[in-house]
Amino acid sequence: MTDTTMMQIPGELLPRDGRFGSGPSKVRPEALSALQDISTSYLGTSHRQSTVKDVVGRLREGLRELFSLPEGYEVVLGNGGATQFWDIATFSLIKERSQHLSFGEFSSKFASAASAAPHLLSPDIIKSEPGGHPELRVDASIDLYALTHNETSTGVMMAIERPGGTEALVVVDATSGAGGLSVDPQNFDCYYFSPQKCFASEGGLWMALMSPKALARVREIKESGRYMPATLDLSIAVDNSLLNQTYNTPALATVFLTVHQTEWFLENGGLKFSTSRCNESSEILYGWADSSSYATPFVKEIDSRSKVVGTIDFDPSIDALKVAKTLRANGVVDVEPYRKLGRNQIRVAMFPAIEPSDVEQLTKSIDYVVKSGI
Ligand SMILES: *Cc1c(COP(=O)(O)O)cnc(C)c1O
Repeated sequence: MTDTTMMQIPGELLPRDGRFGSGPSKVRPEALSALQDISTSYLGTSHRQSTVKDVVGRLREGLRELFSLPEGYEVVLGNGGATQFWDIATFSLIKERSQHLSFGEFSSKFASAASAAPHLLSPDIIKSEPGGHPELRVDASIDLYALTHNETSTGVMMAIERPGGTEALVVVDATSGAGGLSVDPQNFDCYYFSPQKCFASEGGLWMALMSPKALARVREIKESGRYMPATLDLSIAVDNSLLNQTYNTPALATVFLTVHQTEWFLENGGLKFSTSRCNESSEILYGWADSSSYATPFVKEIDSRSKVVGTIDFDPSIDALKVAKTLRANGVVDVEPYRKLGRNQIRVAMFPAIEPSDVEQLTKSIDYVVKSGI
């Protein structure tokens, strides 16, 4: 057996930037140079002073504009990423009973957090097999519907629509979808995400776009006297966010990189621009897989095929992990499948920072590796 990890992919087939991971994901070099430019006046300065508060303000303003938030919606942020936000929602947004659409690793985790909470009723968990998504079922006992815009572990996206016949909150994990998929804010009450995916920044932060109804729910639960640790108390995060601060110290570099990406989107046409890059990349990836003799899109339903994270099954005769390993040895990284899915597939991030032309080069590199006989 030849050692395929030593295989050299010709330079003209390689992507210019080899980062295709689904998070942390490619950070644009332009954002890093901009960070370098302000490194001595911004990094290492107090997050309670105007230098940093102004940047947090730019982030909140930028997200408001990017998502065309209606009057009364607020941009709230805090530390701990989307995973922390599940616990926050469990304490501060679910009144009694939530319903969760569970169709992969991430969506199942919020459901688990709600199930384990002693102060809540047992949630309604509607599950479907990886590769698709379930539909929500309106039920009078539910006060919060937990949706996931893009299930990053399987590459399934779902349209965000507000269900009729209910006043319950619609709360959306948009961690890998926000900025890459279009959404109408009228259809959600809380749209939360971490910035290390479409926002091409680092992890550790969460942002939530919250409707007046969600903000009122936070107050209502707080006033009910429910015990909640301060870091899970969304009312504290809301109060701090309105002052362009966070409850405790945020990573300033992360905040800045997120602002930079947001403003890059806005300067180029906003969500239309950012989503069009994902559309273009996904057409390239799925188009290649559809016409390939050995690759097939994992998600059968075309409308559910994610435009931000593509999952591509390989014929059993080709070892996807070996292909990924060979690519890695050539500087093209993180196309390994989601570890727990256990399929012979690759997973490719197509976030806005990633050049569609690099996705095209990636497909050429894969073809080269496979044709060279792996
Ligand atoms: C990455 C991801 C998360 C977890 O985000 P963290 O910042 O690591 O907490 C949650 N949900 C989805 C859909 C994700 O893609």
